[in-house]
Amino acid sequence: MNLPPNALWIDQDDYDVRGFSHGLYIDGRWRPSSDGRVIGVVDPSSGSVIAAVPDATLDDALAAVDAAAKAATAWRETAPRKRSEILRRCFELMVERSETLAMLISLENGKALRDARGEVAYAAEFFRWNAEEAVRITGEFGTAPSGTNRIVVDYEPIGICVLITPWNFPAAMATRKIAPALAAGCTVILKPASETPLTAYALAALYSEAGVPAGVVNVLTTTSPGPLTSAMLADPRVRKLSFTGSTGVGRTLLGEAAKHVVSCSMELGGNAPFVVFDDADLDAALDGAMIAKMRNAGEACTAANRIYVQSGIHDAFADGLRERMAALKVGPGMSADTECGPMITRKAVDKIDRLVKDAVGRGAKVLCGGSIPEEEGFFYPPTVLSQVSPDADMAHEEIFGPVAPITRFETEAEAIMHANNTEYGLAAYIYTRDVGRGLRVASRIEAGMIGLNRGLMSDPAAPFGGVKQSGLGREGGQHHGIAEFMEAKYIAVTF
Ligand code: NAP
Repeated sequence: MNLPPNALWIDQDDYDVRGFSHGLYIDGRWRPSSDGRVIGVVDPSSGSVIAAVPDATLDDALAAVDAAAKAATAWRETAPRKRSEILRRCFELMVERSETLAMLISLENGKALRDARGEVAYAAEFFRWNAEEAVRITGEFGTAPSGTNRIVVDYEPIGICVLITPWNFPAAMATRKIAPALAAGCTVILKPASETPLTAYALAALYSEAGVPAGVVNVLTTTSPGPLTSAMLADPRVRKLSFTGSTGVGRTLLGEAAKHVVSCSMELGGNAPFVVFDDADLDAALDGAMIAKMRNAGEACTAANRIYVQSGIHDAFADGLRERMAALKVGPGMSADTECGPMITRKAVDKIDRLVKDAVGRGAKVLCGGSIPEEEGFFYPPTVLSQVSPDADMAHEEIFGPVAPITRFETEAEAIMHANNTEYGLAAYIYTRDVGRGLRVASRIEAGMIGLNRGLMSDPAAPFGGVKQSGLGREGGQHHGIAEFMEAKYIAVTF
């Protein structure tokens, strides 16, 4: 296999990442942090450290802004067709290297290989989609109502972008931002999550190989994300912050960006309701629930966090879900037959345990799972709870794990009331054979995305994003995603 110089590489036989060179990726070069400190990367299946990446300092962050600024003019003036072809090449290389990338994701994040393969395919699609979008950016032209002049509207790249991503989709959350930003003509600095930096660096090497010029994409890891982000946002050359992560950190960053009136896109936390009506196709609803709950072992912002089931179908659904969840094979993500890998950290396992104990303390019944296993690694078993009180903490907080809490309801109005009883509004799922009811309920649920008789909605061709405290703006979709990285310029013309 032909590897670019300095690429991170995992050996397909023993998955050993030690010894492969990697560093901060700034101005097309790999470098250590300016004070030489590193961050350990942990395999969640065993709890052991498998690699180390540099811990960037303020100087490193400002060097990344300098590099992005230096590359900005040439990149925005690169012909859209050329930018498109480079993005297309990124897509092709990701597809060619998909198995290796999937293993790397699985290794550092812990997710089952089958989930990691799905993530790579999804992540690569953002390059294909935005390669197509790059040559379709159009403006507007019209006559002013007064008739005195023409109105020309041009769309320009917004400028240097700071991109911050979480650990749960280390490839896709990065490409969902990088691909539209590059298509729009922007240069970027990516700060991936400290838990999963290896995928971000491996992809940086791949972009370079695909022809992305030095300085257009810069990647840095740090244990001081707050101070470094503040410093980058304070630099007047930085015009955009695109963040995916928790609502709490999103709020803090909105405050930081407000100080300098920096444009923000925010993809934040979720608390998705999964509503099953009596007339639903039971098997389809169970299949959908398994996808909506268990993709990524429940570590997804769109994960079904609260399952509301109407009385007439409740017992059959609860029984079916228990059977399917209990049958899942739990194990290290890298094992071929694993269906549910470990959680990202011990802290995440402890949070899930706290939420389950709280629900049980308020009367929930454990149908399967429900306690931390005694083995190394950060595992939590697939768990189904019934009779979960609407007051339980897990009805209001993201579980972010393989726990399916079921609550019974009687009427459509009650289901809608439960669904909207949250500060979040990212995703929701509805199962019913009555399409009229499905669309009516969809229009009343406060969420940016609805799966109607579907347990999966993520698609680069559709606008992804939330309402309420789940976020601001959209990623993907026809011109939605790219528009986040552009500014309209109005030119009044007399001729
Ligand atoms: P997080 O704690 O908010 O961290 C997300 C990113 O922000 C990481 O890179 C983190 O760096 C960085 N960060 C933390 N504090 C910061 C600060 N003060 N200033 C600047 N950056 C800071 O979230 P997470 O635990 O990684 O991810 C899970 C959350 O993301 C969940 O709430 C999930 O719902 C949400 N999410 C949302 C979407 C969506 O599309 N809406 C998609 C995926 C995930 P460190 O890793 O170094 O701490």
